[in-house]
Amino acid sequence: MKRKDFEAKAKKTFKGSQLKTLARALDVAETAHRGQKRVSGESYIVHPLAVANYLIDWEMDIDSIIAGVLHDTVEDSDLDLNDIEEQFGSNIATLVDGVTKLTRVRRGMRDIDTYLPTTKDNLTKLLIATGEDIRVLIIKIADRLHNLETLRHLPRERQTKVALESLQVFAPLADRLNMGQVRVKLEEISFQYLDPQRFDFLKKQLKKSIGSAASKLDVVKNELSTALKTAKIPYQMDGRIKSIYSLHKKLDKYDQSFDRIYDLIALRIVVNNTTDCYNVLGVLHKLFIPVEGRVKDYIARPKANGYRSLHTTIMTYDGNDEEFFVEFQIRTHEMHEFAERGLAAGFHYNEQKLTDVYKQGGQIQGLPEGMNWVADLHHAAEKLQAGEAIDISKLQMNLFSDRIFVHTPDGDIFDLPDGALPLDFAFRVHSDIGKTTHAVKVNGEIVGFDEPLKTGDVVEVITRKGIFPRLDWIKKVVTPKAKTKIRASLRESGIEVKTEDNPQKPRRTEPGNKK
Ligand code: MN
Repeated sequence: MKRKDFEAKAKKTFKGSQLKTLARALDVAETAHRGQKRVSGESYIVHPLAVANYLIDWEMDIDSIIAGVLHDTVEDSDLDLNDIEEQFGSNIATLVDGVTKLTRVRRGMRDIDTYLPTTKDNLTKLLIATGEDIRVLIIKIADRLHNLETLRHLPRERQTKVALESLQVFAPLADRLNMGQVRVKLEEISFQYLDPQRFDFLKKQLKKSIGSAASKLDVVKNELSTALKTAKIPYQMDGRIKSIYSLHKKLDKYDQSFDRIYDLIALRIVVNNTTDCYNVLGVLHKLFIPVEGRVKDYIARPKANGYRSLHTTIMTYDGNDEEFFVEFQIRTHEMHEFAERGLAAGFHYNEQKLTDVYKQGGQIQGLPEGMNWVADLHHAAEKLQAGEAIDISKLQMNLFSDRIFVHTPDGDIFDLPDGALPLDFAFRVHSDIGKTTHAVKVNGEIVGFDEPLKTGDVVEVITRKGIFPRLDWIKKVVTPKAKTKIRASLRESGIEVKTEDNPQKPRRTEPGNKK
């Protein structure tokens, strides 16, 4: 993006004095980065411009955008924080300082593992760097997004490292801020670098499934439209296609079976108010068969990141009398905006409200429901800086990913659910390897089959001919794939294992209806 286009865009949102300060910041950044190049060969200024451009898209306030323009000056040029403070005031200087600190904390961390709450010291640093002002984190996410988008210019080894870190740290952070669109972007790009073959395979599969669903989906849409018109509920309807990475995660949970994933396509119904949300749910359940256990009321009980919507999956029959499932997400316009853009949405309209968050001690006003962790983070950072102790376990932020990433000795990366055990890894690599596992080495040492794996572990499976899965292996795995394979092997050798009821399998709420 060229400076002139960027400034034209800023003009649409900001006024005279703000634009003047922004122009000054652009001058300062251009001078500071003069002669510096990105790995791509472009002049360095392209990067802060792109970062600030995202922040405009996300409707951040002018201070954040200026800080975005200046975000690499302290770290990568002769300017220091005092220069920034003198020229742009303490608010902007604080933001730039936070981003710089975060960069330094990151560089000081040897690998992903050191981010995790297990190492208290690093978490403390991270909290102090980000907790002062949540905008620091949003600027950092914009920075990361642009770095990911230009990742092709880096050597393979760096690509893997950046992609892994984005998946492990930045995407979950975007999720905690309920920045749904940004989270998906971070995940899709990262996953594409980490496992290109799997990414392409799933992309093709997804395309195929969606292609065959399109006409059936039209029938459902039409029936619903008619019913909503009769009920006189104004609505907007659109569809969202599941992202490749969330599909990958879900397939892992559901034993790689595409047929069991009901939300490849979800239809979104956006209405004017909460009452209409429940009305639409009523219309849907009258029209189609709701799948048991799939109705979620995130309006009455918002998710921890503040996400609100009603979810339901319905079942109907297509022309060939085959079962056909569709997921629905029902929400108001306001909930929709917040689900897509999260805390960043409307930052510059809500400036006052969000500034209050950092001023008030106890009860926080103006934070969306479910996002009190932002305030908790802030209070924790304040305490830490004052030298007081905090109980990290009470923070309940769960800031990090629910996946772990482990390596083979050859450097191949496999991701597994948090809590995965050595045999889960063995079966994940290949069933034949899993079945004949004699021992497992983690980081060069033999470990027990009940020792959970951690991100960054190098895992080596030692197989031996003549080994067969034993009954107690069932209790030493957490992934459905490993469980199924072990059960099958045991059955082959004549040992019958009781299959647990599968909670994911839908049951009709109206038995006997058709078929
Ligand atoms: Mn940067």
